[in-house]
Amino acid sequence: MIEPFVPQLVYIEPGALEYPLGKQLKIKFEKMGIEIRKTTSHNQVRNIPGKNDLQKYRNAKSTLVVGIRKTLKFDTSKPSAEYAIPLATGCMGHCQYCYLQTTMGSKPYIRTYVNVEEILSAAEMYMKERAPDETRFEAACTSDIVGIDHLTHSLKKAIEYFGKSDYGKLRFVTKYHHVDHLLDAAHQGKTRFRFSINADYVIRNFEHGTSPLIERIKAAVKVAEAGYPLGFIVAPIYLHEGWEEGYLQMFQLLDEHLPKHIRNDLTFELIQHRFTKPAKRVIQKNYPMTKLELNEEKRKYKWGKYGIGKYVYQKNEQDDIQQHLHNYQQQYFPESTIEYFT
Ligand code: SF4
Repeated sequence: MIEPFVPQLVYIEPGALEYPLGKQLKIKFEKMGIEIRKTTSHNQVRNIPGKNDLQKYRNAKSTLVVGIRKTLKFDTSKPSAEYAIPLATGCMGHCQYCYLQTTMGSKPYIRTYVNVEEILSAAEMYMKERAPDETRFEAACTSDIVGIDHLTHSLKKAIEYFGKSDYGKLRFVTKYHHVDHLLDAAHQGKTRFRFSINADYVIRNFEHGTSPLIERIKAAVKVAEAGYPLGFIVAPIYLHEGWEEGYLQMFQLLDEHLPKHIRNDLTFELIQHRFTKPAKRVIQKNYPMTKLELNEEKRKYKWGKYGIGKYVYQKNEQDDIQQHLHNYQQQYFPESTIEYFT
């Protein structure tokens, strides 16, 4: 059983104690007996204990920095939302293909932002710009926000904020099952709660430190029973021996557990495994024993932004994946929607 995340070490950035959440977190971590260090620096990486890069990387993943979000300009977040809402960055999980390894490369620690009201006010500006069109915000672009929210409740605050908004929608995805504190949030149906799921083999081999598939599914049932629109992101879809059977069993397990009455507004997003050359380098550095298949020659090159292309599966493999997963979805969840395959 994966326990809710507890940091080994906490840093508090200058200014964070001027916010109520900063003060609350300091008291909370003191009571929990966690070592707290004050810092004057914005970048903590030099302070993370460890004899070498690998140890520092591991320790960073259990270090929480309590800070202030200075940049209130949101990134875009296609294809699932218009904007990424930054409530936290970094994650305690050890998914070997996690893209945060490249995007947050120099700052692998977890950082939570205490100026939640300011972040939500910035979201309000973005909504006003697009009104009366709706604006969707993705809260899990830079972290697994659910996995740390039992400590901060920032996500809960955001859920309730969007619950009251006229044109805003919130969505996020998680690989953790620690959802209980979110069940009574006044979401008003405006938040789509998604779980990242995969074939059992993939989770067991490549997603260390995250909740097992069955726990994610049980948590999904709880949030759907609490009235949240529910979705699943099947990602990354990874070709391995027996993958057809592996993904079939995943759909069968979903079918076994999801009550009929929560299936009408169910969404699936399908994302095939991909990697870039910089990602391959960083994965092999952080997880030197990885079994992850990262052979460029077996893949199809897809041009990307800033000249950094991705290696995706060959066209015939992509067709095979789409056909199989589409068939499973039709067989078990014909009422649901596949939002995209990418
Ligand atoms: Fe990355 Fe998500 Fe895994 Fe965390 S749970 S390490 S954010 S893939």
